[in-house]
Amino acid sequence: TIRVRFAPSPTGMFHVGGARSALFNWALARQQQGRFVLRIEDTDAERNRPEWVDGIISALTAIGISKDDPAFEGPHFQSYNAEAQRDAALRLYAEGKAYYCDCRREDLVARTRSQHLGYDGFCRERGLAYVEGRALRFRTPDGGATVVDDVVRGRTEFPNASLEDFVIARGNGSPVFVLANAVDDIRERITHVIRGEEHLSNTPKQQLLWNALGAEPPVWAHLPVIVNEKRQKLSKRRDKVALEDYLAEGYLSDAMVNYLMLLGWGPGDDVEIRPFKELEGLFRLEDVNKGSAFFDVKKLSAFNGEYIRGLSPERFVAECRRWLQAPYAPWAPERFDERAFEAVAGLAQTRLTVLSEITQYVDWLFLEAPPEDEVSWAKAMKAGAREVLVSVRAQWGACDWTADGLKAALESVAAEHGLKLGKAQAPVRVAVTGRTVGLPLFESVEILGRERALSRIEAAIE
Ligand code: GLU
Repeated sequence: TIRVRFAPSPTGMFHVGGARSALFNWALARQQQGRFVLRIEDTDAERNRPEWVDGIISALTAIGISKDDPAFEGPHFQSYNAEAQRDAALRLYAEGKAYYCDCRREDLVARTRSQHLGYDGFCRERGLAYVEGRALRFRTPDGGATVVDDVVRGRTEFPNASLEDFVIARGNGSPVFVLANAVDDIRERITHVIRGEEHLSNTPKQQLLWNALGAEPPVWAHLPVIVNEKRQKLSKRRDKVALEDYLAEGYLSDAMVNYLMLLGWGPGDDVEIRPFKELEGLFRLEDVNKGSAFFDVKKLSAFNGEYIRGLSPERFVAECRRWLQAPYAPWAPERFDERAFEAVAGLAQTRLTVLSEITQYVDWLFLEAPPEDEVSWAKAMKAGAREVLVSVRAQWGACDWTADGLKAALESVAAEHGLKLGKAQAPVRVAVTGRTVGLPLFESVEILGRERALSRIEAAIE
């Protein structure tokens, strides 16, 4: 059975690219009844903070990768394997596959007359023993090539002459990343290494290490880099990359999962909106694209809108809850009215792209007075607006208090003033809701109630 892994280094936030890698691994593990191993690569001591590990686990849970699922294994910690990694290093030394080196950087630069050339093999045949401060270097083959067969990228040949004798353990004996990563993967019996393209350059070294340690190298699959609208690699300085930020803003995790699954992969038909359950069945590593994947926030928002519309009314109300409270809600908590919200929720559900927008769609309903927005006011309250409002006050004072009754009344006001309905509606909308755009007006006014609606119109007339 297949064993895949997700091996994040804790950094204090969960990158959407990491989420994509995790999901591809998860899809494959579930589809093949294999295992998904979570390994926390926590060897960088400063980064080793327990709360970051909790953050990783809760982010995974948020995208449906649950510790309680039988496919899930772990978390394992890279730091717990330190001894096995040291043993592996010593074994490679004992077998002559690695050697100690005492070259200082400036010696190398002086010999090669370059800052950039790799290690020149100076200590290869010196037979140095371990002394504190001596690094252990892996002896790469002299001739031939290391061929990495990657499911996504195809075959890449790395001439061995271009692979320097790289360091596998530092002067203090501690293993470096390429070794730790390979040793852990071997110990965890990983069959498929599916990870971001930035690790491609480590792959020939890791493959050499797998072989040298007597293990059959895994299937490699390097996922395409994720870029922004300027085709730049997503970066945390420039772009919004934290999964948490998207979830906190009101992207639904199902929508995120669906969108992330299509970043660099597609099932080959035109259906885009699909639950993970289906995507997991369709996923094929062979169909992952080589070309970079565009993280299109607009498209993500469109996906999210679809998922919001697909929620049951009760679930929608529940999902909105946090944005109806402090610190998001601008109204006094006691002014919130559950029944009124439920009445208006259906109107909003079809319009939102992110849940956080709910606050401004409904604030007029719970604020004492409509929100003040000068731009909207200036746009709608042009010449003749006051006269329209005066007529509306009279008509709505007597009409049937239903959306239809309110509409019929406004139609007659429009006719009386020789205006199209939309033109007559604009000042009324701003008087009642404070904005020029929003939910359907007549339904909104009906929910607000006669007394409050008329007093707002009154206030606008004055
Ligand atoms: N810890 C590495 C990272 O966070 C992943 C290494 C791997 O997947 O092989 O980028």
